[in-house]
Amino acid sequence: MSIKENLNSLKNQIPEHITLVAVSKTKPLEDILQAYNAGHRVFGENKVQEMVDKFHSLPNDIKWHMIGHLQRNKVKYIAGFVDLIHGVDNLKLLKEINKQGLKNDRVINCLIQIKIATEDSKFGMSINEAKKLITSEEFKNLENISIKGVMGMATFTDDKDQIQSEFQSLEKGFNELKISLENINTISMGMSGDYNIAIDSGSTMIRVGSSIFGSRQYQ
Ligand SMILES: *Cc1c(COP(=O)(O)O)cnc(C)c1O
Repeated sequence: MSIKENLNSLKNQIPEHITLVAVSKTKPLEDILQAYNAGHRVFGENKVQEMVDKFHSLPNDIKWHMIGHLQRNKVKYIAGFVDLIHGVDNLKLLKEINKQGLKNDRVINCLIQIKIATEDSKFGMSINEAKKLITSEEFKNLENISIKGVMGMATFTDDKDQIQSEFQSLEKGFNELKISLENINTISMGMSGDYNIAIDSGSTMIRVGSSIFGSRQYQ
């Protein structure tokens, strides 16, 4: 099936209130343009340089989401255009995003990455750490960032019950943070292999790559 067909069949399967982030990392401009020409506008990348290059080469009404781990010293390269940063997991990074937001005269949307997987390799904070962060004095002074919600990745496993319970824990954590941050509305969870479980568990935003663009080849 073509990228356009993959995209349309995916959109037909998911409820309308779910935002679909088409994860285009490693994929060439032509592939992204196929999705763009099919009407899609929200794309996710996990590397700063790749996202910057694609931003400069593609139509400027694309909404670019940074879904990968973001290093503090690279925030400045994307601060002028990024639509949403999914992987914020510490105050220092948030302060840098705020600083670059101020320089670019914009408020940068962010999600707090919560660690829900049992694997060691996954980034993210605990819900308690996130609570501490958003209720701290320092956080209140950050006027050029806006926390929109949370992001999480489930353990890479075939065990659907485990994936489901991890996603449910993210939804529960989101509701706890909502007590302090009333305006949050986004739960970014679900990828090609698990977006159905994520949607059943309360996801509002899924990040899907290979089911749209085909499998990735890493060099
Ligand atoms: C690559 C990636 C995805 C998409 O993965 P697929 O399995 O190809 O859908 C989603 N989220 C993050 C954070 C990723 O790095």
